[in-house]
Parts: sequence; C-alpha cells; structure tokens
Amino acid sequence: MRTFLKKLELQGFKSFAGKTVFEFPERIVGIVGPNGSGKSNIIDALRWVLGEREAKQLRGDTLGTLIFSGTPKRAPVGFAKVTLSFDNAEKLFPVETGEVELSRRIDRSGTSQFLLHGSEMRLKDLVPLLARAKLGTRGITMIGQGQGDLFVGSSPYERRMMMEEVLGLREFRLKKNEAERKLETSESNMEKARSLLEELTPHLRFLRRQRTRWEKRSDLENELRELENAYFSVRLEALRAEERKTAQPSSDLAKRQKACEESVRALEEKIRLLNASEEAQPSRLKIIREEIQRKRMEANALERDLARLEAKIEFARQQAVGVERSGKEMAEKLTALSQEMEQALAIGEIGMMREKIREWAQSIRAFFGKNESSRGADDNDAERKKMADRIHALDAELKTLATEEEAIIRGSQEKNKEFRSRIEELEQQKNALRDIDRAMQESRFAAEKMRLQRAELEREWQNTGRPLKELEELNIEQRETEHSDDALRKIVRLRSELAAIGEIDESLVREAEESEERHAFLTRELEDLAKASHDLRNLIRDLDRRINTEFKEAFRSINHEFNNFFRLMFGGGKAGLKLQKPVTSPMPAREGEEVDAEPQKIDEEQAELAAGIEIDLNVPRKKIGNLEMLSGGEKSLVSLAALFALISVSPPPFLVLDEIDAPLDEENARRFTELIKEFAKTTQFIIVTHNRITMESADILYGITMGDDGVSKVLSLKLEDMPAKN
Ligand code: ATP
Ligand code: MG
Repeated sequence: MRTFLKKLELQGFKSFAGKTVFEFPERIVGIVGPNGSGKSNIIDALRWVLGEREAKQLRGDTLGTLIFSGTPKRAPVGFAKVTLSFDNAEKLFPVETGEVELSRRIDRSGTSQFLLHGSEMRLKDLVPLLARAKLGTRGITMIGQGQGDLFVGSSPYERRMMMEEVLGLREFRLKKNEAERKLETSESNMEKARSLLEELTPHLRFLRRQRTRWEKRSDLENELRELENAYFSVRLEALRAEERKTAQPSSDLAKRQKACEESVRALEEKIRLLNASEEAQPSRLKIIREEIQRKRMEANALERDLARLEAKIEFARQQAVGVERSGKEMAEKLTALSQEMEQALAIGEIGMMREKIREWAQSIRAFFGKNESSRGADDNDAERKKMADRIHALDAELKTLATEEEAIIRGSQEKNKEFRSRIEELEQQKNALRDIDRAMQESRFAAEKMRLQRAELEREWQNTGRPLKELEELNIEQRETEHSDDALRKIVRLRSELAAIGEIDESLVREAEESEERHAFLTRELEDLAKASHDLRNLIRDLDRRINTEFKEAFRSINHEFNNFFRLMFGGGKAGLKLQKPVTSPMPAREGEEVDAEPQKIDEEQAELAAGIEIDLNVPRKKIGNLEMLSGGEKSLVSLAALFALISVSPPPFLVLDEIDAPLDEENARRFTELIKEFAKTTQFIIVTHNRITMESADILYGITMGDDGVSKVLSLKLEDMPAKN
C-alpha cells in the first residue's frame, strides 16, 4: 500500500542521541511506550522538520533544547538533524523524483538549515511548498499531546485557519499574506517616494526657476553678443576707414616734407656758396683795379717820359738842321698842338692821347728837323723804343685786366641774379614746407582724433566685459545692420534686462538637472510602485475570492459532516459550525511570516475572509450554554467530530495524533478506532497511544523505551506483545 510518509530519521534530536530510523510502510503507524520514553519527541521532530519555528510549540525554551543535551551516562552531541522522506508520486513537491527528502539541522551555535532534496532552502521558500502539500505544523494535521480538544479550545479564527489548512487554502493565504506584505512595502515605498517628491518639488521649482532664468539669461547674452558684434563691427569698420584715410595723406606729406626740406637745405647750401664766392669777388676786383691803377700810372709816367724824350729827340734834330722856321710858324704850330691836346684831354681817352702825343712828337720833330749826333740819337731811339714797348705791353696788360674786371663785374651781376632767384626759390620752398607742416599738423590732429575715437570705442567695448582681443577679432561682415542708435538702444535694454535677471550660480543649474533626474526617477518609481500596488491588489482580490469561494463551498459539506460525526459520538443531538460576524481581533502570526496578518479592511469580502468559526451544539439531554461547560472528554469528542468532518471533506496526506484518544471511554475509543480505520483509506495516520484498542488498529507498531543512559530506543513490537492499557 502506498504511503505518503516514508521514513523518519532522527539524529541527536532530544532524547534520540544516536541515529534512529522509523520506516512508515503502513497507513496506520502506532507509537507506543512508557511515559517519558520519547514518543512525543518523535512528534516534535515531525513538527520541527516541517518548519515549526517556535520553541514553545516544540516543548522547549529555545531551539537549542532540541539537541540531545547529554545524560550522566551519555555525552551531549553537537547538532540535531531530522530527515523526513515523502513519496512524491503525486508530485506534491515540485521536483522530478518519486521520493523527496526534507531535512532540518541545527547546531549549538544556533545555525539552522533546511535541505529539500539535498539542496539548501530558506524557510520562506519552503513554507509555500509545504502549504501546497497541505503540510502544516499546527492545526489539525498534527495534534499534540493534550491537544485533543484543540478545535474546541481554539479561537474562532484559529479554527478557521485549521480548516483552511486542511482544505489546502493555506497556500493562498500565504500568497495573500505575501502579496499584502509586498503591497505594504510597495505602499510604504510609495509613501517614501511621495514624501521625497514632496520634499524635492518646492526646491525643484526653485531650481527650475533658476534654470529658466539662466536660459533666459544665456539667450539674452547671446542676443546681446550678436548685437554688440554687429554694432561694434560697424563702428570699428567706420573707424578703420577713417584711419586709412588719414594715414594715407600723412605718409604722402611726410614724403613731401622730406623732399621739401631736402630742397630747402640744398638751396640754402647753394646760397651759402654763392655768398661765399661773392665775398671772394671784391678782393679780386680790388686787386685788378689797383693793378689797372698802378699800370695806368706807370703807363702815364712812361707816356710823359716818352713825350719828354721825343721832345728832346726833336729838339736835338732841330738843333742839328738850324732853325728854318719862323717864330710865326712855330707859334701857329704850337697853338694847333695845344688845341689838339686840349681836345685829347677833353676826350680823356688814353689810347687816343697816346696817338696824339706821337703825332705831336713827329710834327715837332718835323718842324725842327733832326740834328743830333748819331750816337746820342741812337740811345734816345733805343730808349724811346723800350719805353714804347713797355707802354704797349702795359696797354695789353691793362686790356686783359679790363676784360677780367669786366668779366668779374658781369659774373657778379649774374651771381646776383642767381642769388635772387635762389632766394626766391628758397622762399617758395619754405612756403611749401609751411603748407606741408600745416597739413601735417592737421593730419596729426586727425590722427589724434582717430586715436581718441578708437580709445573711446575700446573703452565702450571693455564696458561689455569682453576682452579687447575679441574686438580686434570681430568678424566684420557685410550685413544689414540696423541703425546704430537703435542697436545701442537695444544693447542698453538687453543689458538692463540682464542686470534685472542678475547673476545665476551655475551650480544651481547643474543641481536643477540632477534634481530633475531625481524627480523623474522618483516619478517613474512612483508609477512603477503604483502599478505594482495595483497588480498586488488585484492578486489579493483574486486570492480572497478564491479562498472565500473554496472555503464556503467546503464549509457547507464540513458542517454537514460535523453534525453527522457529532451525532455519532454523542448518540444524537445536533451540531453546527457557523461563520462569525466580522472580526477585528489580531490574527495570530503564521509560520514564515514576519508580520502578523491582521484583518485590516472591514469590507464585506474581507469580513467574510476574516470571519472565524463558531460552534453551535445541541448535546442530547443537556443544555449547553457555552463550550466551557463541556467536560474534557466531551470537548475532545467535539474536536474529533470536527477533525473527521474536515478530513472527510478534504483528506490530508497524513495525520499525526499524540494520545488524542486518552480521554475517550472504551466505547468512544472503539468508535475512534473504527473511524481511523475508515479514514486510513485516504490518510496516513501516525498515532501515539497508550490505548490497546487503538494499538490494535495499527498496521505497524513502534515501541519506544528509554534505558538508564537516558536515550530513547526503538523496538518493533508485535501486536500480541502489547501491554494492556495502563
Ligand atoms: P508520555 O507517555 O508520558 O507522554 P513520552 O514518551 O511522550 O511520555 P517524551 O515527552 O517524548 O515522553 O520524552 C520526554 C523525555 O525526553 C524526558 O524524560 C527527557 O528526559 C527527554 N528529553 C527531552 N529533551 C531532551 C534533550 N534535549 N536531551 C536529552 N533528553 C531529552
Ligand atoms: Mg508524550
């Protein structure tokens, strides 16, 4: 026969110090043995390996008490390990193998680990798997010792959870809890994102304003720059043209000035030279004139001497011939001579005078006739010839000197003329130079004006705050530029707009970008979270519906069965389960959950989901006001009726019951045994019992004993060997 639980292996767990193996080849496994031998420890082991986290549920203070603590005769061990093997033919576990091993191990350091089929697993991931296999650690599938009245003794909500566990709805509850946790996280993240956004938004608004201002500012700056470029280009170009215009003549003038100065200098030099030569002339003229004077005087003297000599010669000739002439003739001759002399003197001409004098001498000689001794006459003639030669030479010299004098005078006159013309020329040149100087002065004025204009332009440029270099580099394009006054007005307007905007810290612009990104990120995150929340809500709603629907469906049948089993056990009467009115009390924490799942929203669906189970009883021959009025046995019976009702509607793969039959009388114990046998068709039972009737129903019995070493031991017992109920 197939069994779901295959094998349980304990090592170092509580009183099972050594390795102990329980095979479960049958559907009803009985565990028997004396008090304190360790039977309930086996149940604890089952609970623990299936994920129980609370030491209290395992009858210990701490999980450390699960490890064999040693006895006077046996040393403690370092760790406890429990392995449970399942049949996986029906693929209750999502692995391929036909058998699955679930292990749990704990050591003294408190390190606990789960291994599913050999691989380590977190409890968080294990719990849903166990839930799907309808394996819970609490509730009705594992009823601990003294918990036979569990169903009755539990709160309505706990009862509901027990029912849901058996119905396999716990899986959805867990999913729902998980979704709720996620939703909560998502909402708290949304809240955080929202508050971050809220926090960010005013600052971002401020930063955006700064960025807008900055953008406006840079637009205006660009516009201003363009405008300035155009405006200054035009002005600079005009200035440059003007400068070119003034520079050209000034260089011409300079050339002309130089030429002019040159010619002035040359003229002055010429004039100086003329002056110098002129100064030299008079002395030469004087010398010539003195020479002439001297020579003339010499010639005159010679003329006189010659005349005297000739007279002497004539006289001598006269003496020699006698006086042949009358006095009258002589007187007439002398008168004629003196008249001619006077005429000659009146003329003042030396040559003519000399001629006359010679004529006179001849006529005198002719008058008186020659009468000299031949020697005396020869000497006089030689003398006369010498003198005449000398006179002749002097005449020639005088002529030369006169020519020279004349030449000098003429030369001087020419020089004078030249001098005058040079002076005139000099005057002209000086005038021209003055004109040039004036023109240059004007040009210098113009240049100075240009310089001032340029300085002004540069000053204005520097007022823009831009480096001078940029002005020089301005690209002067031929373009339509508005009137410079308009441009200037615009420039002034733009500057004042910029001033109104003021300086903007660039780091704010960067911060704006970052904040913008952050804002976008948070907005996106918020959207994602909102979507996630929406999806989670949908999931929760779907799960709620499913739980509700499936629970309600099963509930009717369970209720029906409950009544049947109750009537069977109590020999009549009536029992019913009913869904409570809305519950707002906190739900107990579930395994694998960090946060208590509380019914939070009391809408209809939630209310139904949170509704606990109340029990309505009608015990034969008794009037029961509330459940507390029932006896211990009665409570157990009611609980058993509920258990059987549940498993009849939704049979779990196995049930673990620790001395659940203890409070039952023989008749009820027998009924219990019958029912177990009946349900064993669908459910495997592991039952700890001291009850012989129960033992008899078991297919296999394990006897647990504890020796003086304080360690639990296992022996298989034959049914016949069973001790009677103690
Ligand atoms: P009863 O029939 O009275 O219910 P039982 O067989 O169910 O008895 P258990 O409760 O299973 O008995 O075993 C209790 C015994 O286990 C105790 O006597 C204790 O000595 C032993 N025990 C429990 N924990 C440890 C541990 N950590 N180390 C050693 N022994 C332990
Ligand atoms: Mg026990």
